[in-house]
Amino acid sequence: MNALDLISLVTQLIYVLIFVSVALRTVRQPTGAHSDMTLFFGAVAFIILASRVAALIGTAAPPWLTTVEIAVLMALPYLLLRLVDDFTNVRSAIKRAAELGLAAGIVATYATAPTPPTPVILYVVLYFFVVSLYCALAFIRSARRSRGVTRRRMEAISLGSILLGTDILITGLTPLAGPDDRAVLQALGQLLGLGSGVAYYLGFAPPAILRRAWQEPELRAFLARAASLPRLPATLDIVRELERGAANSTGTEARIGLWHDETSNLRFWEDDGTTVDVEPGKHFAGRAFELQRPIFSTNPVRDNPDGATNYRARNVGAVLAAPITAGERRLGVLTLTAVRPPIFAISDIELASLIADQAAVILESRALIDHAARVRAREEATRLKEDFLSAAAHDLKTPLTTVVAQAEFLERRATRDPSAPADLAGIKRVVRESKRLAGLVGDLLDATRLEQGRLVGEREPVDIATLAQEICSHDTSDLTLCQVEASAPVVGVYDRRRIEQLLQNLLENAKKYSPEQTPITIKVWQEDGKARVAVTDSGIGIPAADLPRIFERFSRASNVDDRRFHGMGLGLFICRGIVEEHGGRIWVESEVGKGSTFHVELPIADGRRLN
Ligand code: ADP
Repeated sequence: MNALDLISLVTQLIYVLIFVSVALRTVRQPTGAHSDMTLFFGAVAFIILASRVAALIGTAAPPWLTTVEIAVLMALPYLLLRLVDDFTNVRSAIKRAAELGLAAGIVATYATAPTPPTPVILYVVLYFFVVSLYCALAFIRSARRSRGVTRRRMEAISLGSILLGTDILITGLTPLAGPDDRAVLQALGQLLGLGSGVAYYLGFAPPAILRRAWQEPELRAFLARAASLPRLPATLDIVRELERGAANSTGTEARIGLWHDETSNLRFWEDDGTTVDVEPGKHFAGRAFELQRPIFSTNPVRDNPDGATNYRARNVGAVLAAPITAGERRLGVLTLTAVRPPIFAISDIELASLIADQAAVILESRALIDHAARVRAREEATRLKEDFLSAAAHDLKTPLTTVVAQAEFLERRATRDPSAPADLAGIKRVVRESKRLAGLVGDLLDATRLEQGRLVGEREPVDIATLAQEICSHDTSDLTLCQVEASAPVVGVYDRRRIEQLLQNLLENAKKYSPEQTPITIKVWQEDGKARVAVTDSGIGIPAADLPRIFERFSRASNVDDRRFHGMGLGLFICRGIVEEHGGRIWVESEVGKGSTFHVELPIADGRRLN
C-alpha cells in the first residue's frame, strides 16, 4: 500500500467513524439537524463502503450500483445544504435552485451513461463546488454569530466544506489534465479529502477533551467576572450578572430562578422588577430542579404545553434548564432559551451545567457572606446592649443612691421629730437628683427612638433666635454667663421641642465642661439660605483623637472622667439625630484647654408648604 492509498484509507475511516457517531446521536436525540447529519455522512459512508466492497470482490460494480453511487455522490452538496438550513434559514429560491440543479445533473449523467461527455462532468463538478462553497460561506456567517464551542465547531465545518468542495473540483478535473499533472492532482485531491475528513470530524463529532478545551475561554471569561460577584450589594445584582454571563457565554437568553423557602417555589425576576414563581415539577425549570439534572427540549411547545403561549409569544424554539446545586443544597435553576434549537446540544448542555455549577459556588459564597454579616450584626447588637445596660445601670445608680439616701434621711428625721421644720436643702437635693434621673431615662428613651428614626415629630415654624434667648434666660444658675448673639429672627420649620432639646443639650455640655463664671455664647444667624447656630465655650476642649467619634453613642472624650463629669455619652448622639432628621448637619471645632464650638446647620424650610 503506498502513501496515497494510506491517506485514502484513513480519510475513508474518518468519514465512516463520523457516520457512526452522528447515527448514534440521532438515535439518542432524533432532531432534524441530527437526522440531516446522519443522512449526509451516511451518503458518504455508502459511497466509501460500496467502492471498498467492489475493490475487495475484485469485480466491477454492476451498472445499477454505479448509477446509484453517482446519484448519491451528486446529492452530497444538497444534503449539506439541508444541514445549513437546519440552523440558518436558507432562502427557498436557493433550495429550489439546488434541487433543480441536482435533478438536471442526475438526468444528464444517466442520459449519457456510461461515459458522460466532458461538459456533463464539468457541470456536475461545478455544481458540487458551488453548492459546497455556498454552504461553507453560510457556516462561516453562522460561526460569526455564534460563540464558544459552537463557533469553533462551525468554523471546522466550514473549513471541511471548503476542502471537500475543492477536493471534488480537483478530482473531477483530474481526468481532463495531462498525464504528468494527473498524479499531482490526485495526491492533492487525496490530501484535501483527508483534510475535509479531519475538519468534519472536529466539527461534527469532536472528542470530549476538545469540546472542553473550546469551552475554556468562555468559562474563563465568566469566572473572571464571577470572582467579584459575591460582594455585590444585593443577591438580585448577582443574579443579573450571572444571567448576563451565562447569556454571553452561550449566545442564548438566560434566566436564573432561586429557591424561595417561604413559598416553596422557584422565583424568577423579570426585567421590570416583578417576580414569577414556578412550582417544582412545573415547566422545564421546575422539572430540572425536581429531577436535579439538565432538561433539554427542541420543541418546547410540545414538551411543555402549559408554557406554549409564552414560548410562541417570545418565539422560543429551544429550552435548556440546568439545576444550580451546591452539594446537598438546591439553590435554583438556570434556564437558557433560544429561537432555534442549538445544533450542538451536547456542548451547550455541558457548558450550561458548568455555568450552573459556578453559579452555585457564587450564590453559596454569597449566602455565607450574608450569614457571617448576620452573625456579626447579632454580636454587635449584643455588645451594644451590654454596653447600654452597663452604662445605663452605672449612670442611673449614682443619682438614685443619692435620692434614696436623702429620702431615708428625711424620713428618719420626720419620724424622730414630726414637729421639726422641713429640711428644705435636703428636699431640694432629692428634687434635683430626681430630675437628673428623669433626664437620663429621657436620654435612654430618645436614643432608642433615634435608632428607629422617629425622634422628630410634628413640625411648625420656629424662630431659633428667640428660642435661644428663652433657653439662655431660663438658665437661672448664676454659675455661668450665657449670652445670645442674634441680629434677626431665623425661622425654619422644625419640631420645636427637639430644637429646644438640641440647644439645651449643647448649652448643658458647654456649662458642664467649662469652669464656672466663664461666658458661653449662642450665636444664631442665617447663611446661604441655611439656619446656623454656634455654641462656644472656653472650657476643657476635646482631644483631636476623640473628635471623629464624639457624636457616637456612649462616646466620651478621654479627658473626662466620671468623678468630675457625670454623663453617659448620649447627649451629642441625640443632638446629631435631631439635626440629621431635620436634614441638617452638626460638627465641632475644639482645642484642649481653650474651648469648643459646636456648629449646627439646618435647612430653613423642609420642602413642605408653610400654612
Ligand atoms: P456626656 O456629656 O453625657 O458625656 P455627650 O454625648 O453630651 O455625653 O458628650 C460626649 C462627650 O463629648 C463628652 O463626654 C465630652 O467628652 C465631650 N464634650 C461634649 N461637649 C463638650 C464641650 N462643650 N467641651 C468639652 N467636651 C465636650
